[in-house]
Amino acid sequence: MSTAILDPKVESKFSKQTRTMQAAVVEAFGKPLVLREWDIPKAGLGQIVVKTEACGVCHTDLHAANGDWPLKPKPPFIPGHEAIGIITEVGAGVTIVKEGDRVGVPWLYSACGHCEYCLTAWETVCPDAQFGGYTKNGGFAEYILADPDYVAHIPKGLSAVEAAPLICAGITTYKGIKQTEAMPGEWIAISGCGGLGHLAIQYAKAMGLLVAAVDIDDGKLAHAKALGADLIFNAKTSDPAAALKKETGGGAHGVLITAPSLIAFKQGIGMTRKHGTCALVGLPPGDFPVPLFDVVANCITIRGSFVGTREDMAEALDFAVRGKVKADIELQPLSEINSIFKRLEHGDVAARVVLDFSGNRSATDHSKGADRSAADHRKDEDEDCEDMGND
Ligand code: NAD
Ligand code: ZN
Ligand code: ZN
Repeated sequence: MSTAILDPKVESKFSKQTRTMQAAVVEAFGKPLVLREWDIPKAGLGQIVVKTEACGVCHTDLHAANGDWPLKPKPPFIPGHEAIGIITEVGAGVTIVKEGDRVGVPWLYSACGHCEYCLTAWETVCPDAQFGGYTKNGGFAEYILADPDYVAHIPKGLSAVEAAPLICAGITTYKGIKQTEAMPGEWIAISGCGGLGHLAIQYAKAMGLLVAAVDIDDGKLAHAKALGADLIFNAKTSDPAAALKKETGGGAHGVLITAPSLIAFKQGIGMTRKHGTCALVGLPPGDFPVPLFDVVANCITIRGSFVGTREDMAEALDFAVRGKVKADIELQPLSEINSIFKRLEHGDVAARVVLDFSGNRSATDHSKGADRSAADHRKDEDEDCEDMGND
């Protein structure tokens, strides 16, 4: 259905109906998400509507729902930034995609396209960037409004559920590995072998690196080994920095910290070889102490890395198309979101949970079953994170 081609009479009759969808909504920080009806978005000028097929559940969604970070989303909002779906509506002026295309709606929802960062392929730090499932409603819902200039174009060889984890966990770790500047044949240490880490191991191996995997869970480490890690270290039962330095003759040339734990950050600096780079990717709330003397005297670079650009996205997806990287996924329905969050919080997700929308009903008039009035939904839409700035 496209508003662009609807007969105006049909459209006016149609728009009188309340067309709602199921969504998992953060109504208050730190509280369970509420499964409820929400108005299906409509594509305005330069926008598209995507019917969700699958959406990965990232640890970032948990941080969002808990209000963990200094820049907070505004409840009520719909999390989810690993959403893959089919375009069902194309707003006026959109030419880059068409109805029926499969796209991903990622964390980098949009950027201004004109600032010094956008012009130099650093759109991820654009001061006007919007974030999917955070400052804009995301993929824990049957439909998503998206900016066609920033969606991921999903190659034919990938299914929706396979592609979902790649558009955040995949791109983030692929970009993060590049940011360590570790070269083929050198060591990279990957701290945290969950959703992000299990993909990082595969990207790193495909990029010709030697991989040391670090986690606090033996199951995750066994998985890391199966995925090709050359060395594994349990950071709970050993000093990973000392052990890694011994095994690699001085530490890892690149370190990628994906663990959502502050201890892992200090340990990560300790794992870094002289003149190496430690890329910080995990985002637990808080700060960690930097051992200044070690960092200065060993010429260590500490670098933040935040998702990736649209070009990084295309490259990250291409590894999967070529069979070099494959997300290990567990499919669950949207209705399980709160138990998934609990498991994620306790480290009980083996790799990545992907919400599978194939069993969901299609969009119909759900107004009778809704527990809130249509006016309430519209009010929420108007008050959603539309106007939330980045500063
Ligand atoms: P996850 O829960 O799937 O995986 C986390 C892994 O870290 C688990 O395997 C867990 O056992 C391990 N871990 C916990 N404490 C550890 C420790 N002290 N040492 C080593 N390993 C430890 O989470 P995820 O979805 O992979 O996300 C990880 C983090 O990355 C989150 O903080 C998330 O917000 C952040 N993130 C950042 C970006 C970015 O652009 N920088 C993008 C996506 C996610
Ligand atoms: Zn994410
Ligand atoms: Zn910009």
